[in-house]
Amino acid sequence: MPAAPERELARLKERFRKRATGLAQADFVLKGSVVQRFLPCGTASCHCHADPPQLHGPYWQWSTRVNGKTVTRMLTADQARRYQEWMQNWKRMEKILEDMHAISSQAADLLLAQDRESGRTHTPARRRTKPTASRDRR
Ligand SMILES: [Zn+2]
Repeated sequence: MPAAPERELARLKERFRKRATGLAQADFVLKGSVVQRFLPCGTASCHCHADPPQLHGPYWQWSTRVNGKTVTRMLTADQARRYQEWMQNWKRMEKILEDMHAISSQAADLLLAQDRESGRTHTPARRRTKPTASRDRR
């Protein structure tokens, strides 16, 4: 490999590893969202059923998707703060992994270009057709 792409690859690896150190400081993560809600109670004579209603709350409600279903949980203010912190941790982790993926893509492109230049890439004609996973099942 010529010196320049090798240096570029080393530079990418350096960036990748630097980014990966962020994962070592990982703390608990949660996916989902927390919303603040004001709700009526079950007592018909309560002020929350008056006009205009004075609803109870605020309550905090966390929701997330589990196996395609939305799961919700009511939280106290303290719990909501913790959930929000863990959700921020998730976003941070996600960002780090996205960055690591972007850097890796650059490295993959670089190596592919290298292989093409040196004639090492052999692309069979079949690769150009679309996947046939379900077509043969007649
Ligand atoms: Zn009420």
